[in-house]
Amino acid sequence: MSRKEKCDIVVIGGGSAAHEAAVAAREAGAERVIMLEKAPKSEFGGNARYSHTGFRFAYDGGKEIREFLPDVSAAEFESWYMPPYTRANFLADLMRVTERRIDPELANFIVDNSNAGVRWMIEKGIRFEREKSVIVGGKNYFEPGAVIMPVGGGLGQLLAWREIADSMGIELRCDSKVTGFLGSEHCVEGVRVLTAEGEYDLTARAVICCSGGFQASAEMRARYLGPGADFMRVRGSKHNTGEVLQMLIAMGAKTAGHWQGAHETPIDAASPDGAIPLRDDGHGNSANRYEYKFGVTVNTLGQRFYDEGENKHSYTYAKTGRAVLAQPGALAHQIFDATTVKLFREGNYAGATMHEADTIRELAKLIGLNPDVLAHTIDEYNAACDESVPFDPGNLDGKSTKGITPKKSNWAVKIEKSPFRAYPVTCGVTFTFGGVKINTRAQVLNVADKPIPGLYASGDVIGLFFHNYPGNTGQTRNVVFSRIAGREAAARNG
Ligand SMILES: Cc1cc2nc3c(=O)[nH]c(=O)nc-3n(C[C@H](O)[C@H](O)[C@H](O)COP(=O)(O)OP(=O)(O)OC[C@H]3O[C@@H](n4cnc5c(N)ncnc54)[C@H](O)[C@@H]3O)c2cc1C
Repeated sequence: MSRKEKCDIVVIGGGSAAHEAAVAAREAGAERVIMLEKAPKSEFGGNARYSHTGFRFAYDGGKEIREFLPDVSAAEFESWYMPPYTRANFLADLMRVTERRIDPELANFIVDNSNAGVRWMIEKGIRFEREKSVIVGGKNYFEPGAVIMPVGGGLGQLLAWREIADSMGIELRCDSKVTGFLGSEHCVEGVRVLTAEGEYDLTARAVICCSGGFQASAEMRARYLGPGADFMRVRGSKHNTGEVLQMLIAMGAKTAGHWQGAHETPIDAASPDGAIPLRDDGHGNSANRYEYKFGVTVNTLGQRFYDEGENKHSYTYAKTGRAVLAQPGALAHQIFDATTVKLFREGNYAGATMHEADTIRELAKLIGLNPDVLAHTIDEYNAACDESVPFDPGNLDGKSTKGITPKKSNWAVKIEKSPFRAYPVTCGVTFTFGGVKINTRAQVLNVADKPIPGLYASGDVIGLFFHNYPGNTGQTRNVVFSRIAGREAAARNG
């Protein structure tokens, strides 16, 4: 017979969504809130530990952002080019990149609560800093919508949440794996927990699931994400293996989001599988290879295979990994010249696997490609670059290629100045898009669209996105739904 224990609210997971839900529940009056984290203490925190955790949200422009960053000097602020990112901009981005399949009610809810979510984090004690920018003519051009990140990146955010949670008496139990739900679809009453010492039951008046996606299970990836998905490399936590999601579905939860879809990005081909470390400056994962818009990407046959300049990286990077996965050996090479490498945002590609040569033919030999084919691809691309349109690195410049397939829609500058560089990339999986269906109260719904009493969810475990995702929306979704989940769970009379 297993041990039994009681609390008010159980939160499954130890990542950013879980911390936000736990803090919101405690703030709303729940007395005893317990977080259960499968990972050991040294690895707690889910995906945020490996990310810079930028936030996309609606704001009024640089003046409002400066309120969030009190340490920014007047001189620095003067150099910012940061127009408003409106509610309508954010909603349009969500609708466009998900090909209008995202649940409009949930999308509107995220957009409407995005600014308040960030303000709540600041009120709770999370500090933010500005994102990196492209500097042109002394002005800092920021990607609209994605202009701030927590101080210290994802790890900084997690450690700050932990301190806040500790100060509120919220316990985090590591090495504590949830292996089952107590109750049923009629009412969830707690969870079963597996630890090194054995199993116990933890009853509660509500359970909030923040257990992440299934991207770290090669078996589930192969089952849901299609051919070759088991070859993807996991960018973040190794502990997001989807068992809680499977238990939720078995219990009667409705599914939502794109079950064959995931956030998949181009990463260094030499990076490890899982737990890829953050950059030293905290500004992103060390394996990210997101400057492809300034060059061309070729597969191991030496051919281009996608539009590298379709849009700003925020709107393309989460689907570019899938394009790489589809190439022979799930491998590709990003090619730049001496001029285009200077356009990289500061610190990007530091420590990257890189090959350099004085000619394209020599470069081809270094990376095992046929020199005739690669030289032909680059010559053809250079000849197709429209010289009549001015180059503008900070904006969609419409400087495209003419007459080649695939087209490069923007930033089509010639690759002509020696030395030339190749950065090998493969497909990294960030998080999966399929999950459980929730409503705007973060209640998990059953297949009849009725809330399952006592059960709430936030984060990657919910099904929301389709095809692609506007960069930095994951963290915003987390804070928006975790806040409401915490409040609703605390208000529930169990
Ligand atoms: C490299 C990288 C860069 C990213 N960059 C950004 C960015 O800049 N902006 C942005 O918005 N998003 C970004 N993301 C995505 C974002 O980090 C995730 O979407 C987000 O962290 C998900 O939060 P979560 O709390 O739902 O899940 P996670 O952070 O993955 O947490 C899930 C937690 O559940 C635990 N767990 C799983 N199963 C069990 C179980 N059976 N019992 C107990 N615990 C369990 C896990 O150990 C983990 O702690 C990035 C992700 C990665 C990997």
